[in-house]
Amino acid sequence: MLFSLDGFGPRLSPRERDRKRKALTDRPRPQSVTSGENDRYVPTAVKRAVWERDQGRCTWPMGDGEMCGSTHRLEFDRDLEVALGGKPTIENIRLLCKSHNLMKAEQHLGRTLMAKFRKDRPTERDTS
Ligand SMILES: [Zn+2]
Repeated sequence: MLFSLDGFGPRLSPRERDRKRKALTDRPRPQSVTSGENDRYVPTAVKRAVWERDQGRCTWPMGDGEMCGSTHRLEFDRDLEVALGGKPTIENIRLLCKSHNLMKAEQHLGRTLMAKFRKDRPTERDTS
């Protein structure tokens, strides 16, 4: 996980948390680790479809209708919707390079914080 999603609502049920805690003490199962650690909820079939659709490139829009197109350190990015509990469908997932994935995370967090900030302080722009 690149950033905490705690603020977006409950992601792990107590049972899952329990299983996680157990996993720390129990011996790890032999079938253990796949490639990514933040894409484990995405079915392989979806991943494959997304990869093909995005042609193995970062889809971050750069303006001018251009896309980043990086093939370096790509990650399956789940949209905020998915983070909120939506289905990891092909439409909700895209390829992003590591840096753009981080950038997106920052933007989301920034928006959330800003929205909160605005709510706390109604526009107080006195023209004096
Ligand atoms: Zn990129």
